[in-house]
Amino acid sequence: MSATNASKRDILRQIRNAGVIGAGGAGFPTYKKLDAQVEHVIANGAECEPLLQKDRESMLQDQEAFFRGLEIMRDLTGAGTVTVAVKKKNADVIDRFQGDLASHGFETLVYPDVYPAGDEYILVFEITGRLIPPGGLPLQVGAVVDNVETIINIAHALAGRPVTDKYVTICGAVREPVTTIVPIGTSIADCLKLAGGCEVDDPVILTGGLMMGGVTTDPMLPVAKNMGGIIPLPRNHYLAMRKSQSRETYTRIGHGQCDQCSLCTELCPRYIMGYPIEPHKVMRTLLMTGEAKQRGSLWAQYCCECNVCSFIACPESLDPKNICVDAKKILRENKLGRTEAELEVLFRDPHPARKGREIPIPTLITRLGLRPYDRKAKFKRFENWQPNRVTIPLNSHIGAPAEPVVGQGDRVRRGDLIATVGDQQLGCPVHASIDGRVTAVGPRTIEITA
Ligand code: SF4
Ligand code: SF4
Repeated sequence: MSATNASKRDILRQIRNAGVIGAGGAGFPTYKKLDAQVEHVIANGAECEPLLQKDRESMLQDQEAFFRGLEIMRDLTGAGTVTVAVKKKNADVIDRFQGDLASHGFETLVYPDVYPAGDEYILVFEITGRLIPPGGLPLQVGAVVDNVETIINIAHALAGRPVTDKYVTICGAVREPVTTIVPIGTSIADCLKLAGGCEVDDPVILTGGLMMGGVTTDPMLPVAKNMGGIIPLPRNHYLAMRKSQSRETYTRIGHGQCDQCSLCTELCPRYIMGYPIEPHKVMRTLLMTGEAKQRGSLWAQYCCECNVCSFIACPESLDPKNICVDAKKILRENKLGRTEAELEVLFRDPHPARKGREIPIPTLITRLGLRPYDRKAKFKRFENWQPNRVTIPLNSHIGAPAEPVVGQGDRVRRGDLIATVGDQQLGCPVHASIDGRVTAVGPRTIEITA
């Protein structure tokens, strides 16, 4: 039975006040997503990024909260179906859950071990048969999709527990790859110690994921609410070098070497789904200026930045993904986009050979030189451990950064509110992740020392 309007408002408020945001991607505030009536709730446990296991482990370690979170989502949205989506490599999780899934009336989708299976556009299409409109949201086709860890946090929120911890997989060039839970704001350096330390000096560290995540060389960067992976690699590793390439370099090389073979387009997951995105045409804009460049940039508008074109498709190792990112900036600056009439013509049915063009994870691991790092990152709970210091980001979520409500020198307890966002603004409050004293307050972070 769906929640009444009054209780729904109260539940959404509790989810907001607990600081729940998307734990697996852009950090969209969850209360906003759930303020809707939909037909389908989808739990995204597809764990798209290679090597990561934090979604798998969060479901296994927090099974009760996971199921409670799904029930809350169903009640809030009035959804008729709830589907738990995992990749084949984690089908054993579904086997373990079988009895509970059946008793709750939840369904499952076990998707092949391909990249990018966790793209919500793909999951929604596989489960509902509906295509999200170009640039749109699952809501527009009657679905809400949340990462499995977010769903666990929803259950915790209703039990009065704000978001203070994060599941992370720490792998790559570390001595003992591990999946664990750390307080939000823990530094990458402290996380690496939990994985037995780094195997190389002076690594490049991929954050979030190998394909779509960020890159840093700063070991003091803190774990944010939406950072699921920490993957140091040697500086001369293919991915580390590709991810660290400057705009000047990838633009210059792309300008000179793209032969318009169009393989980037033929393998682009969004193009294959029928969306008007053609990276080889965006590459042509490197030779253009003015209006022609702007028109050509429109072929980048619906790029989801999955990196298949750059890391898998292009035989010249060019960087169409970053050229698309730059093209989207041009579109934003000039307020340009496809018209409805253009989309009428350009938005097609999915390609009939779609399945044959998905990238098997073993292929991806081999192509990216990740074989030495393809090791199990087993779950380990570090019961009596906590970092001496955390630096908690105030802007992990989409929307307004949270405003500090504590000052330097204040004593705080784990779970205390330390920053908040006005009721009318999109965003979420932020909480202390350890007991300690506030030792620094900035516009983007609050530091707490134990
Ligand atoms: S990054 Fe490349 S492959 Fe991925 S959606 Fe964008 S253009 Fe397509
Ligand atoms: S795959 Fe590479 S060379 Fe071919 S069109 Fe795309 S960017 Fe150019």
